[in-house]
Amino acid sequence: MTLRPSLAMAAAIIMAALDPAAACSPDALGTARVMPVGTEGGLAVGLKSYPRTLPLQDHEVVLTFDDGPAPDTTAKILDALAKECVRATFFVIGEKVEQSSDLARREVAEGHTVASHTYSHPQPTMRAMSAAAARADVLRGMAAVERLAYGADVDAAPRDLSSFKLHAPFFRFPGFAETADLHAFFAANNVAIFGTDLWAADWIKMTPQKELDVLMGALDRAGRGMILLHDDKAWTAAMMPDFLRALKAHGYRVVHIVAGQGRGETSPAPKGWRAEAPP
Ligand SMILES: [Zn+2]
Repeated sequence: MTLRPSLAMAAAIIMAALDPAAACSPDALGTARVMPVGTEGGLAVGLKSYPRTLPLQDHEVVLTFDDGPAPDTTAKILDALAKECVRATFFVIGEKVEQSSDLARREVAEGHTVASHTYSHPQPTMRAMSAAAARADVLRGMAAVERLAYGADVDAAPRDLSSFKLHAPFFRFPGFAETADLHAFFAANNVAIFGTDLWAADWIKMTPQKELDVLMGALDRAGRGMILLHDDKAWTAAMMPDFLRALKAHGYRVVHIVAGQGRGETSPAPKGWRAEAPP
């Protein structure tokens, strides 16, 4: 009898726990590359609203999820992403982060990018608020992400962005409805605004199969792009395993966006582009 094999096995288990990729099946979709996105001077990307987007190659996609974390669905989406070793970006709502901080911490722990989508997801949009109230909601949402997802020591209701550092200086407006005041505020504070290139309109109830068909059809036409999904929707959670398998089967590669240095590089919209959701 020797101790050595069991020690080796224990070491292998520890290594697999430290490096999630080590536990991936060779057939997993995986994360093909990490793209640092510089935000100096601000940035606005996503062809639904803006004439520029992330500089993706053919068959590259970026997965983004809004409106979570949600107790019944976010964990299912995280499970599906973990199974395929895929990293995504979550634009979370501050008050939901307060209610489900365990899920927000799990998103960070599993290597995803977590960024803000306001504190209260104002209805119908932030355009109905005063500029001061909109800024306060944004700052409170960002502070909730830093405190509860990343564990940073940040005031719950900061008055400006100079008092704390964002792990991911990224933001998405609810309903893509940006305001001139916040656009200027983000540019001055080096925060990038994300619209989207592709979406299935999963804010409306649909079957997982219909959602899958819409997404794959949009991807086949565009060939690449940043994709918007909602991790608080049951049909999206149910679709995720099949969607990730379909991306693999169709030769798509996942790009993970993280905070970068300097000015962000972008690609222009294809010829004949028109905004579907003017900013
Ligand atoms: Zn939203």
